[in-house]
Amino acid sequence: MYRTHSNGELRLENVGQEVTLAGWVQKSRDKGFMIWVDLRDRYGITQLIFDEDRTPKEMVEKAKTLGREFVIQVTGEVIERVSKNKNIPTGEVEILVKKLTVLNASLVPPFTIEDETDGGDELRMKYRYLDIRRNPVKNNLIFRSKVAIETRKYLSDQDFIEVETPVLIKSTPEGARDFVVPSRMNEGQFYALPQSPQTFKQLLMIGGMDKYFQIVKCFRDEDLRADRQPEFTQIDCEMAFVEQEDILNTFEGLTRHLLKVVNGVEVAEFPRMTYDEAMKKYGNDKPDIRFGMEFGELNEVAKHKEFGVFNNAELVVGIAVPGGNAYTRKEIDKLIEWVKRPQVGALGMVYSRCNEDGSFKSSVDKFYDQEDLAKWAEVTRAKSGDLICVLSGNADKVRAQLSALRMELATRLGLRDPKVFAPLWVVDFPLLEWDEETERYHAMHHPFTSPKPEDMALLDTDPGKVRANAYDLVLNGNEIGGGSIRIHDKAKQALMLGHLGFTPEQAKEQFGFLMNAFEYGAPPHGGIAFGLDRLVAILGGQETIRDFIAFPKNNSGRDIMIDAPSKIDDEQLKELNLKLDL
Ligand code: ASP
Repeated sequence: MYRTHSNGELRLENVGQEVTLAGWVQKSRDKGFMIWVDLRDRYGITQLIFDEDRTPKEMVEKAKTLGREFVIQVTGEVIERVSKNKNIPTGEVEILVKKLTVLNASLVPPFTIEDETDGGDELRMKYRYLDIRRNPVKNNLIFRSKVAIETRKYLSDQDFIEVETPVLIKSTPEGARDFVVPSRMNEGQFYALPQSPQTFKQLLMIGGMDKYFQIVKCFRDEDLRADRQPEFTQIDCEMAFVEQEDILNTFEGLTRHLLKVVNGVEVAEFPRMTYDEAMKKYGNDKPDIRFGMEFGELNEVAKHKEFGVFNNAELVVGIAVPGGNAYTRKEIDKLIEWVKRPQVGALGMVYSRCNEDGSFKSSVDKFYDQEDLAKWAEVTRAKSGDLICVLSGNADKVRAQLSALRMELATRLGLRDPKVFAPLWVVDFPLLEWDEETERYHAMHHPFTSPKPEDMALLDTDPGKVRANAYDLVLNGNEIGGGSIRIHDKAKQALMLGHLGFTPEQAKEQFGFLMNAFEYGAPPHGGIAFGLDRLVAILGGQETIRDFIAFPKNNSGRDIMIDAPSKIDDEQLKELNLKLDL
């Protein structure tokens, strides 16, 4: 037996016992006549003591050669410590070592294996196995495992069956680029890696599985914006014979369960908000509702004066920043610069100070009197002491800009407390979204999403207005899940693909297998997928998903530890009938 106990286990009750421990040398202190070593494993740290008087001499000599991260095994007696360490659970005891075995030596690690390390991101990724020894990363992985296990428990208690779906498939239309894999046996042909198991889970419903889930890797070859990974994990789910309401209730249940068992937080029923309302109130389809600062639309109270900027704008919209009147002129100027940065893209910002005495002082006093500004305050629900920030322009753009400002200010004001959880459902998403680049409509969710029956007629006349039976679960300003009720009828699916610009031949070639299956008794069905990486990060009170992934890729999609992607040799290329043309 390598060890009788872990390094997080021994207490005063164990004093007098002979134990064998194994682990890594966290640090050692050599006082000449005595050597202390902190021995670490996943479970904790136990202090070892090598004492000239009580430990065999050759063991003391060996202990002097130990370096950081050496792997050792020791046998000795648990004794009470003279000076106790109240900060760790094993801090009242130490092991008086009788026998030391070095199981493996270690080079000096390239960064310190401490909670606060001196290693930069890239270095830590290169030596991820060392990074994983550090508490913050280790604890995140343990946390992730707990979320996954609780998810499995909850869903299997609800009769969901976990089914694995293939990884070498045909393109799935989740709107990103596919990763492809050349097929050696089928010359010139390629598999695609799944962007999600979407079509397979629908086929499982047609196969009668009734309730399916899978914790599954998905692959999307996108330009990696901050905090995206080319491979990520979904909790993917599908149910048959359900309406939207059934799905929302089931997965609200899962989310509530996770918040309770993982975070110890009980949350009330999740509010529901339509997409339109979310856009109007927060300029965002994943609003952070931990704080207010809701938008106030000012067209009616700001467009009647000589101020051309507002008069020419499609939308004039503002937010009240709590306590913002305390900002100096300089700070406000900085804010204006902030919204004008290319990443935000506003042309400028108008503001109105709400003074303590009830008066207002705005940057457009030339055009607006106190009565006008009082109306602005009313619409934006500003109180005295607040600052009203107003943007104007194209409605969609200006909403996105003001949303960015709202989030930035809330962060600065400390209103985005990671320990507070504010989930909500956003429902009634538009079915289609206009793409400027290709000049055609795209499925906002995916092509299998069912339009709202009452909006079907609009498909021909005003496609952009058609709403879908689609929903997102939003938590603290992040989309953590999204899904829809599906089309389960061949003719309707064909119609939808037609609207998305597929010719009947293309539709058949890409999705014929699904449409054929629809002809063999497809039940009504719908589902959802959660982004597990992000869900875990948010439940863990953090923002970056990378910290919750054992072996993440860097911002250019590289695994710098194993050095992938990498070239393949000519032999392999030949076997695959591939020629590079770089
Ligand atoms: N497959 C969808 C996605 O990955 C989720 C769903 O519709 O269930 O977003």
